Amino acid sequence: MKVRTRIAPSPTGHPHIGTLYMALFNLIFARHHGGQFLLRIEDTDQTRSRREYETSIFESLKWLGISWDEGPDVGGPCGSYRQSERTEFYQKACFDLLRAGKAYKCFTTPEELNEMRIISQKMGGRGGYDRRHRNLSEEEIKAFEESGRPYVIRLKVPLSGEVVFHDAIKGRIATPCSDVDDQVLLKSDLFPTYHLANVVDDHLMEISHVIRGDEWISSTPKHILLYEAFGWTPPVFAHMPLLLGIDGKKLSKRRNPTSAYYYRDSGYLPEALRNFLTLMGYSMTGDKEIYTLDEIIESFDIKRVGVSGAVFDVKKLDWINQQYLINSVKVEDLWSRIREWGFNDEFMAKLMPLVHTRIKTFGDFIDLCDFFFINHLKYTEALFSPRGLKAEEASQILQGLIWSLDESEQWNKTGLEASAKSLSEVFGVHFKHVIIPLLFATFMGKHQGPPLFDSFEILGEHKARARILKAIEFLGGISNKKMEKLQETWAKKNCNSLITSIIKT
Ligand code: GLU
Repeated sequence: MKVRTRIAPSPTGHPHIGTLYMALFNLIFARHHGGQFLLRIEDTDQTRSRREYETSIFESLKWLGISWDEGPDVGGPCGSYRQSERTEFYQKACFDLLRAGKAYKCFTTPEELNEMRIISQKMGGRGGYDRRHRNLSEEEIKAFEESGRPYVIRLKVPLSGEVVFHDAIKGRIATPCSDVDDQVLLKSDLFPTYHLANVVDDHLMEISHVIRGDEWISSTPKHILLYEAFGWTPPVFAHMPLLLGIDGKKLSKRRNPTSAYYYRDSGYLPEALRNFLTLMGYSMTGDKEIYTLDEIIESFDIKRVGVSGAVFDVKKLDWINQQYLINSVKVEDLWSRIREWGFNDEFMAKLMPLVHTRIKTFGDFIDLCDFFFINHLKYTEALFSPRGLKAEEASQILQGLIWSLDESEQWNKTGLEASAKSLSEVFGVHFKHVIIPLLFATFMGKHQGPPLFDSFEILGEHKARARILKAIEFLGGISNKKMEKLQETWAKKNCNSLITSIIKT
């Protein structure tokens, strides 16, 4: 069998460390079998997809030393490799299913769907669609069409039996068909859903093995049913263990730094991060931990992939990075590597204007600017309690900061300034005496330094986000219950009642 693997990231945010992890295993598997590895951009979510995120996917993969044989930037025989440019393939496939009676037009309105959800949940169901338009007569369909009602196209999922597949890592997986909804394939704007586009593309691009994260395993029965409906042979599926934080919970943007760039910006060597990621859920024979990409490609055996989650232990990553530093960066190259990382001319050109009038001697430079280069700031409780603010209150304000910056998508100087002002209003706390000291503490680990907003911009989104999360964790974290409450009040943009320990002005 010709081995062809792929990764299919959606460009809806900065590249997640999990994308690099999946890319590596797909690359390793393909290379081990002398096959090809493809990159496909799944940008069917028109509102959230951005070209700049696509570019950062390319960049972060290249930084990690991963290359692909076919993709939007390098082309290939199955192009386009960008789903937004392939809509006619999905429409054709879907209308073929419709004509064959394996799919149907569903005219249910959003209001009806909502009602169905509520009723089904009340009855202890999963809140899915009740298949009311599955067997409409020709006349009924015509009447709906003539009334101009929009429709989606759904798959006619068998009403009984099981969907079975053999996962190359987890073995036999069977799901009762009654657990699978009549999934939407084509939306009312004739854009495909993830399921349709993913299956059509994997088929047309002749993907032999779909190696993806465990979080997709619940979609696989739907995909298998689609392959069956089309009469296509499904690829082999292999679901890799989830990346977990050291708390044993799924690595998530809400708690952990997950942007691939965070690791680059914090000064990790790409070859060390690559080695570390291949240890996630995989073990070499003899439990060897330091090895090259070629070594793992040579000896790779999918049977050695673990079934349960893989702990992303940053201490281990630090250790591996140190091994690479000692063994593969020569002492005479060390300074040029450090300079290239954080002391390069481009960075210094941005930093010098902030420093120029603030140092008495060159010797003051490090003292003023240490926080740009330090990975672990030394936080103290006092730093986070301006005007007697409690740790818990400070952490809620900082969580609000993440939401505010994400909502505006402006992790830059103007974005922080606007967010700081809005936090002061939303939480009803003093801008200058509470918000500003909190931000200094979070980003600089001190209450004084170069100009805050400019420094934030230079620090960059990836490190800045990690610092906010670190500060929240330092302050004791936010329980799920508190987080829910905070979310509710945040949605109303009135969190005044959450801050009780200080006099508000
Ligand atoms: N677009 C999905 C993602 O963002 C692809 C999942 C898959 O590999 O099928 O990861």
